Amino acid sequence: MMRDLKQRDPAIHSVVKNELARQQKGLELIASENYVSRAVMQTMGSVLTNKYSEGYPGKRYYGGNEHVDVSEQLAIDRAKKLFGAEHANVQPHAGSQANMEAYFSLLNLGDKILGMDLAHGGHLTHGSQVNFSGKFYKFVNYGVDKETMRLDMDEIRKIAIREKPRLILSGFSAYPRKLDFREFQEIAHEVGAYHMADMAHIAGPCAVGLHQNPVPFCDVVTTTTHKTLRGPRGALILSKIEDRLRPDDKKNLARKIDSAVFPGMQGGPLDHVIAAKAVAFGEALQPEFESYQSQVLKNAKVLADTLMNNGLKLVSDGTDNHLMLVDLTKTGHGGKKVEKALDEVFIFTNKNMIPFDERSPFNPSGIRLGTPALTTRGMKDDEMRKIGIWLSRVIQKPDDTYLKMKVKAEVLELCREFPIYEGLGE
Ligand SMILES: *Cc1c(COP(=O)(O)O)cnc(C)c1O
Repeated sequence: MMRDLKQRDPAIHSVVKNELARQQKGLELIASENYVSRAVMQTMGSVLTNKYSEGYPGKRYYGGNEHVDVSEQLAIDRAKKLFGAEHANVQPHAGSQANMEAYFSLLNLGDKILGMDLAHGGHLTHGSQVNFSGKFYKFVNYGVDKETMRLDMDEIRKIAIREKPRLILSGFSAYPRKLDFREFQEIAHEVGAYHMADMAHIAGPCAVGLHQNPVPFCDVVTTTTHKTLRGPRGALILSKIEDRLRPDDKKNLARKIDSAVFPGMQGGPLDHVIAAKAVAFGEALQPEFESYQSQVLKNAKVLADTLMNNGLKLVSDGTDNHLMLVDLTKTGHGGKKVEKALDEVFIFTNKNMIPFDERSPFNPSGIRLGTPALTTRGMKDDEMRKIGIWLSRVIQKPDDTYLKMKVKAEVLELCREFPIYEGLGE
């Protein structure tokens, strides 16, 4: 498959080969990662990458779009069907772009947005000062309750009434519990704000009804396509057609979103990625995707229970979704050291802030773990129990060289039993 690359550019060829080997050899527990199907990968590596098609199906600024019109329309139709949405834009290059485009279509620069505190699980694009969001808009925050580590909807309502934001943002990167989008919607309606959900992390379970779908309760919903949705890297914006707060505008909300994406923020769409999104949405519409998502959640529960039974503390004492946050405070180790120790035994995770963290973002008090990738690989309850025990040992003794050597051997052995992408490196 990589013969041409090998001849043309041996340096990059070996990067791809080494990365394939790394993915095969190790346990992927980064909650935002997954393994796409070969069909999705083949579409991304196709001639569609050669095409320019600024505009939308049937309304392009270049000729020769009769075929990419078909793939983009299929992506749109399948996305709408998957989430029951009135409108879908499948062109955003990434989750961050999708959020920017959604803000541009709903807000004026400087408008006030109420979103989750970044240290409590929000995303960079939810108001970080080093991100466009924090520079272009005025963000005010809600966070989790210090006792329960869960959202307190009464408190959020109080903040919303006090702050009168133009937009209320729900949906997070590191919150292990379910959300009630209906409650966010009620608050938004009460204070005259838009409601936007960023379901990047939970789009998979939302698509199959294992998490409440935000689409009926939101003006706009954004999501990445490469996390639990298991598609190519990219994003998607779903919305209502009508602009609830500005019904008299010449453009409705659907048209505002489309023009915020193109020509507002982006030029030519990535036709090879959009077609791969169509393939992934098609896969997500199959019954197997529902059993996959339900195994992801089951695996997360088993992994969380195993960690807690082996002496670790989880933020909010468990999980309702695909991810969990280990609170390292009592272990005395920082996230940086623990992430590195786990890397050494081929268990891939990421360090993460926990709510009310007293350490810095570069060496926070948490490790985030998720089960979407291992579940794609075919792992189930038994494997989660094994992995949970390995994790708890290494997390508690990241300096124990003998322990790490033993765990690494067991990790490599388990990964050999669950091969991925066989024959792809040839
Ligand atoms: C991952 C994520 C994003 C951003 O996605 P990128 O594709 O990395 O830009 C946005 N919002 C949330 C909640 C996320 O988890």
